[in-house]
Amino acid sequence: MDIIQKALAMLPGEIVTRDQEIIAAYTTDFRCQYTGATKALLRPRNTSEVGHIVRTCAEFGVPLVPHGGNTSYCTAATPSQSGDELVVSLERMNRVRDLDTGNLSVTADAGIILSELQRTADDAGLLLPLSLGSQHSCRIGGNLSTNAGGISVLRYGMARDLTLGLEVVLPDGSLYSELSPLRKNNSGYDVKQLFIGAEGTLGIITAVSLKLARKPSQTVTAFLAIDEIASLAEILGLAQVQTGESITSFEYISGTSLQLLLAARNELRHPLQSRGSHYVLLEAATASPVLNLKETVTGLLGELLERGLVTDGTIAASGQQAADFWHLRESIPEAEVHHGGSVKHDIAVRTSRLAAFIQAASEIVKRDAEGAVLSVYGHVGDGNVHFNIVAPPTAPAVPFKRQLERDVSPKIYRLAAEMEGTFSAEYGIGRVKMDLLERYGAGGKVELMRRIKSAIDPSGTMNPGKIVIP
Ligand SMILES: Cc1cc2nc3c(=O)[nH]c(=O)nc-3n(C[C@H](O)[C@H](O)[C@H](O)COP(=O)(O)OP(=O)(O)OC[C@H]3O[C@@H](n4cnc5c(N)ncnc54)[C@H](O)[C@@H]3O)c2cc1C
Repeated sequence: MDIIQKALAMLPGEIVTRDQEIIAAYTTDFRCQYTGATKALLRPRNTSEVGHIVRTCAEFGVPLVPHGGNTSYCTAATPSQSGDELVVSLERMNRVRDLDTGNLSVTADAGIILSELQRTADDAGLLLPLSLGSQHSCRIGGNLSTNAGGISVLRYGMARDLTLGLEVVLPDGSLYSELSPLRKNNSGYDVKQLFIGAEGTLGIITAVSLKLARKPSQTVTAFLAIDEIASLAEILGLAQVQTGESITSFEYISGTSLQLLLAARNELRHPLQSRGSHYVLLEAATASPVLNLKETVTGLLGELLERGLVTDGTIAASGQQAADFWHLRESIPEAEVHHGGSVKHDIAVRTSRLAAFIQAASEIVKRDAEGAVLSVYGHVGDGNVHFNIVAPPTAPAVPFKRQLERDVSPKIYRLAAEMEGTFSAEYGIGRVKMDLLERYGAGGKVELMRRIKSAIDPSGTMNPGKIVIP
């Protein structure tokens, strides 16, 4: 018997799946960039079973790959092709453990699907302000392990900022449990932060305590056309001041992204009378019964038009129309796939430098990738832009994209670094951006990460081959 079979023999049969037809869904990543292999899928039902799995596998030296909703863009939840790693899915651990409406907090198992946890908060008249396009598939343990961002970061922060407590099974099978949802806790190092954004390389998160917010009683959504990308920062600043900091989302959509989408999806309609070079999807929300948010945003739109900062704009007249605006924003990645796929760059720079970055990066593409189509969009209120490049209709997509990756992507990343930005704003590192982390990681950071990895996971069995090699 090899070591994997020996380890599996020590685990309860009900949590072990060897059926390769079932396993197949766990060994290829969401974007089908990488297919690995595993001899078994483990699906524990509680923290104690996770501890049993990790202790047993540590004893036999069997590596483990934690698995949430498998929506990572960096193949971070996919095992290697060796077949020597076991996949641990948290999908059976989806219990809400505690909801404290007075403390505005919720504690839940790490395997719960994000939209289900949102619904729990909503049913209690509260808001879980973490929202992303993948929310019906991703799981909260995966969200914390990738420090997920999404569309409300501007107002509420990233997953890291929403986390009050964590329970984690460490690589030797021991438990770190600090789930108490305290708003203030200065009792030594903030250890939980180590596991947030660690992409499963330091342990398996089994439960989380999160901050909730008051549920907005008014939400106003607007779609704006803009001529000058340099105006973005000024528009955001004005919107924040005039709405009393009620802006929750400030999403940029380039004119070319919208064109790609409308060409791919005949049934979709352009939301404005006139066309712009750039668009912003802006959302404001408040729980205040005093503020008239619609009136405020209407006044804001009037002022933006008067000052010439926007050339056209509309405010959603109904919840359905607001959902239609969001549908446009969220369908852009799908439109890129329709046009042969894109080479993606998940960049963040200071919001004050964002327009300059987009302009300079666009120049690089114009110069070095003739005919390429830019699809640029993202959470620009956070300084985050998805700077994606699509092959022209005349060129075969696959070789064109390869050439882009070889000749253009390094220049885009270098530009981001020169502007003190990052090559990974929200999608993480996984196995696909390890070389970029080596090249552009902040001074001393990668070495410190190696030391942390070696200290917590000395045998290197927790999600090996991801983020850093110790
Ligand atoms: C349509 C779409 C839209 C998206 N939009 C956004 C967006 O706006 N913002 C954003 O930040 N991301 C976005 N993403 C990326 C992705 O959804 C997030 O990274 C998400 O947080 C991953 O969660 P998951 O449960 O799918 O994790 P998985 O993909 O299963 O895993 C991701 C990483 O976390 C580890 N992991 C999973 N669960 C655990 C656990 N319990 N303990 C320890 N490690 C664990 C895995 O090993 C892996 O390294 C999007 C993806 C898609 C497909």
